[in-house]
Amino acid sequence: MKVKVRIAPSPTGFLHIGTAQSALYNWLFARKNSGDFYLRIEDTDKERSTKEYEQSILDSLEWLGLKWDGNVVRQSGRMDKYKAAVGKLLAEEKAFYCHHTKEELETERKTQEENKEPPRHVCNDKDREQGKIAGGIIRLAVEQETISFDDEIRGEIKFESSLLGDFSIAKSPDEALYNFAVVVDDADMEITHVIRGEDHISNTPKQILLYKALGKEMPKFAHLPLILASDRSKLSKRHGATSVVDYKKDYLPEALINFLGTLSYTFSKEILTKEEMVEEFELAKVHKSGAVFNINKLNWFNSQ
Ligand code: GLU
Repeated sequence: MKVKVRIAPSPTGFLHIGTAQSALYNWLFARKNSGDFYLRIEDTDKERSTKEYEQSILDSLEWLGLKWDGNVVRQSGRMDKYKAAVGKLLAEEKAFYCHHTKEELETERKTQEENKEPPRHVCNDKDREQGKIAGGIIRLAVEQETISFDDEIRGEIKFESSLLGDFSIAKSPDEALYNFAVVVDDADMEITHVIRGEDHISNTPKQILLYKALGKEMPKFAHLPLILASDRSKLSKRHGATSVVDYKKDYLPEALINFLGTLSYTFSKEILTKEEMVEEFELAKVHKSGAVFNINKLNWFNSQ
């Protein structure tokens, strides 16, 4: 089985250095295993996505030397695929239309909040029966089960499906929601390893249930540690420059690659090219805990 991995940035901003690091680890894993590294642009948010951001993401990846294989896949060009997949789940009664009103959902949410329960929405058998009638948001019929997966970096991770409720998969047959589109795409692209930031761990149980419902083969999952600011919170704009473009002017791409590569992985030496990283790279050896972004270290790599 040929290894196929991808990164899936949204063109709602410039290439974030966290996504650049994900791209590097995906690229290293693909090269190490003679596999393919794909680029999928998640551009379904029409209001916030722009062609300029998309072009800038492509340019940043090329500048870093992380060239993708094959054509760029765009979610905006795949709407008919999502529609067909939603239709299939509705026809098989694995998904249903939820006729609960906004007010009912709000009351449910408030009660859950008061009882310190996780927010979720559960429909009973009668609701699901009525859910054959078209109209309203579409939800997956989730049964009670323990969902577990063996994360390639973190080991076994377990979730109770009852915490997810009957989560929504599409606003209408024409408007698939995030987790649903991701699964349809990863399945169609025959992605074998989903390697992404740990901020997506909570999406994984939903995605696993969707693979099962769609009858698609499940990829392996690996969640990378986040890049942190010096106060150990998630690195964001308020901490300074977080986009690759911000570094283009003053830094060499080799320095940024060296910095990002060694930030969450211990190689046999500190200064190395990405080709040398390929030789040593093993997914299971990626660090589990987040690494602090230290600009002095980046400056040191750049001077070297
Ligand atoms: N669009 C998501 C992001 O930019 C991708 C998540 C994934 O890799 O599944 O974080």
